[in-house]
Amino acid sequence: MLQPPAVLAATVRPLPAPSAAEREEEIVRAGFNPFKIDARKVSVDLLSDSGTGALSSAQQAAAQQADESYAGGASWYRFHDSVRDLVPYRNILPVHQGRAAERVLFGALLGPGKISVSNTHFDTTRANAEMVGAEARDLPCAAGIDVDGDEPFKGDIDLDALERTLSGPDGHRVGLVLLTITNNGLGGQPVSLANIAAAGEIARRHGVPFFLDAARFAENAWLITRREPGYADWSPREVARREFELADGCLISLKKDGLGHAGGVLAMRDDALADRCKPLVIAGEGYLTYGGMSGRDLEVVAQGLREVTDPGHLAGRERDAALLAELAHQAGVRTVRPSGMHAIYLDAGRLLAHLPPERFPGHALACELYRRGGIRAAELGSLYLGELDEQLRLRTPAPFELVRLAIPRRSYDETHLRYVGAVLDDIAKEPEQVPGYRLTHAPPLLRHFECRLEYA
Ligand SMILES: *Cc1c(COP(=O)(O)O)cnc(C)c1O
Repeated sequence: MLQPPAVLAATVRPLPAPSAAEREEEIVRAGFNPFKIDARKVSVDLLSDSGTGALSSAQQAAAQQADESYAGGASWYRFHDSVRDLVPYRNILPVHQGRAAERVLFGALLGPGKISVSNTHFDTTRANAEMVGAEARDLPCAAGIDVDGDEPFKGDIDLDALERTLSGPDGHRVGLVLLTITNNGLGGQPVSLANIAAAGEIARRHGVPFFLDAARFAENAWLITRREPGYADWSPREVARREFELADGCLISLKKDGLGHAGGVLAMRDDALADRCKPLVIAGEGYLTYGGMSGRDLEVVAQGLREVTDPGHLAGRERDAALLAELAHQAGVRTVRPSGMHAIYLDAGRLLAHLPPERFPGHALACELYRRGGIRAAELGSLYLGELDEQLRLRTPAPFELVRLAIPRRSYDETHLRYVGAVLDDIAKEPEQVPGYRLTHAPPLLRHFECRLEYA
């Protein structure tokens, strides 16, 4: 059946079109780090889908009725009710963005010697666990590490490994089981309801709190309706509620499926744990009825949480990702399969086979997208995940060399995606022309945000 488009894009902003010489000057100035590039010199920005989407007219209208009271404002109650419509947890703690929820929860739950176990920790999640002295341990399922496999739920946690960890010698040190839905660190792949239920059952049996890192809870829910037997007739909202019912709590970056520009929430069933979290929210974020968000932010995400489970919106996200993947394939560039919702992941290791991991092929492709087309993207490979020696040379490469093309929500249309496809096609015609890189500066933690490189 033919489906008309789900939205009318009604606000327009001209995009920058820097010349090749301007782009080269800019990327050199940025130390070949995409995070350091001036956005005014970026034509199509696929660096992140976090807080980069367009607001709907209903969100902008909601922002107009913001109540900026310090405590107990009307906007807080509207936010609270909107979150509570999705999650069955009594304790709703607002924070300014997702990573603040991590810091608060880990501050209350983890500490030196403790372990957080996940399908894959997101980068700031890992950093926040390590900053309180805990270990972040990833247990992705075997299919998740196979870039080419077409399994529907490659985001799942390895249940056997989880059981072994919890009943093994380290079991008493595990303070948290955290499932990231969708699994952003591993190709944006979804987690099935069956896997969420089974992981929760194992965690509960061992008395360990079980939380969801649910930045993309709606996109995960949509892929469950599309791929998991038994849920084709469920609405994405029904599946989203089911996801949360299966857990003891969640942390959500509302810059993704909250459709906001700022905001986050930490929610849980356990009142005693919430009582330990509250002072951390007040001291680090703000009072318990705003948590670092303005009334305007609270209104925008309260409305965003109602819009995000719309099947038209979610179907459009899936179509955009599938189109971008198809354009990459037509250019001869492989991607992590199957394509998900918020991003596609290009297999740079295969495309740039002349570059060994030490010359960072994923990073090289990300830089080349900017040099050739003003397109900004992020590497997910040895620059992000590899181990370095003291001379900043790569000691242990990452298991894959990928580039993530994240698709901001409700921002770009097919014309932009086809332009990206054309630039990729241009690069893939002569991949051996793409230069490699070496690191000249790299901090020990969250290296990819602050590092600098040069041609090598
Ligand atoms: C974005 C994200 C976070 C952190 O949220 P911020 O709002 O960027 O601080 C945590 N986990 C996942 C899976 C995310 O995608």
